[in-house]
Amino acid sequence: MTVLGDGTRCVHGGVHDDGLGEPLHPGPVLATTFHLGLPDDPPPTDFYGRAGNPTWRSLETAIGDLDGGECVLFASGMAAIAAVLRLAGRDGALVVPSDGYYLARSLAHEELGPLGVQVREVPTVGEWPAGVLDGAALVLLETPSNPGLDVADIAAAAEAAHAAGALLAVDNTTATPLGQQPLALGADITLASDTKGLAGHGDVLLGHVSVRDPALAVRLREARTRGGAVPGPMEVWLAHRGLGTLDLRLARQASNAAAVAAAVAEHPLVSDVRWPGLPHDPAHAVAVRQMRRWNGVLRFTLPGEAAVGQFLAASRLVASATSFGGLRSSADRRRRWGDDVAAGLVRFSAGCEDEQDLVADVRQALDAVTG
Ligand SMILES: *Cc1c(COP(=O)(O)O)cnc(C)c1O
Repeated sequence: MTVLGDGTRCVHGGVHDDGLGEPLHPGPVLATTFHLGLPDDPPPTDFYGRAGNPTWRSLETAIGDLDGGECVLFASGMAAIAAVLRLAGRDGALVVPSDGYYLARSLAHEELGPLGVQVREVPTVGEWPAGVLDGAALVLLETPSNPGLDVADIAAAAEAAHAAGALLAVDNTTATPLGQQPLALGADITLASDTKGLAGHGDVLLGHVSVRDPALAVRLREARTRGGAVPGPMEVWLAHRGLGTLDLRLARQASNAAAVAAAVAEHPLVSDVRWPGLPHDPAHAVAVRQMRRWNGVLRFTLPGEAAVGQFLAASRLVASATSFGGLRSSADRRRRWGDDVAAGLVRFSAGCEDEQDLVADVRQALDAVTG
């Protein structure tokens, strides 16, 4: 069978439109209640909106196909992470990134720690503390990491986790399923905030978990129904519409990120530019081995908080905003959220503007920084 390309899979994934007179682009199913039939009728697939919905299943088919596993949608990236950590925490210790998305770490420490779950931390890159995997049920990695953009070796981490009897979960938010396929690299679980690049338009909160083990998918669905962190059908439908252009958006964002990374690196006030696609980036070698394609998220450091303010004030195209992976370029000073990084570290999300416009704007905004 021919393997279809990324663009074709994004456009056609999860779409069933072959019935005569059926809509080519069906709308969302908003119903919460479905006909149950009579006692002799077979039980229907859909009966109540918290347990399942045809609009969810369409997008789950599309994302599951891209991830190479079975997909379970959640109301947000954090709802997806919470479901995985809560399930695994019943079976042993949790190992979470020390330098990844801050709420995953704080959820483990603040919510699960007090319930008696042991929580340990490992850096995205570098040695893991001795014995950190003893009695571990799950290792969560985030790669490329947010906001550091370090890259962990997924296959090596899977081997280490499995040798200790733990599952490996990878937060694939930055890469998206087109950029990286953790399940094919040996991970047991891939999860993401689809609020970012996958939905891609800054108007939907959504998350998902994809797994290879069908029994784990069943446990996750049951956890979703119990926990109630379910996505709204309208959000799911919007995300499915966004997914259709993920291939196009990612291509433009990656080429813009390459151009912005090169432009900022030339500026005397900028240091420590990181983007895994840069040939001299410390993460490039491992990233080339395990990533299929690049994305628009980079980071660089300005002399301090005031310099970031001057840069943002002078830019006409770069929005001062958190989140990333959207159509519009944006920049976020991560220290304001408490990340343990330099005060002038900027996470930059290259959007879909024209490269020459974006680069010219970033250059003039940097020239406005007085230091
Ligand atoms: C944003 C983000 C999350 C949280 O996702 P929400 O959809 O905002 O709940 C988790 N992990 C990473 C890497 C993120 O960037």
